[in-house]
Amino acid sequence: MIDPPRDIKAHQAEQVLEITWPDGEVHRLPYRFLRAECPCASCRDEWSGARIIQIEHVREEIKLEGLELVGNYALQPSWNDGHSSGIYTWELLRETALGIPEPG
Ligand SMILES: [Zn+2]
Repeated sequence: MIDPPRDIKAHQAEQVLEITWPDGEVHRLPYRFLRAECPCASCRDEWSGARIIQIEHVREEIKLEGLELVGNYALQPSWNDGHSSGIYTWELLRETALGIPEPG
């Protein structure tokens, strides 16, 4: 189990979700990247886990319309493309952060 983040900030203009973990590590997750990582059944193949949605399919002006805590273990974002069924556990968010390409 990963402890919940100490702080979560949604930077709407930059389209970045900033997560501060209890160990002080800060991850900045671009919305488009995060949207493409959606773990729900319509974005991932149920059997292989393969990604159905690619980052190119995510609109460039993707924004958050809402962000809900799920228990004490996950976040459920509502995107402005109408999608809100993805539940991102802390584990997934940390793994996702490791897969972000370096800026530049
Ligand atoms: Zn999804």
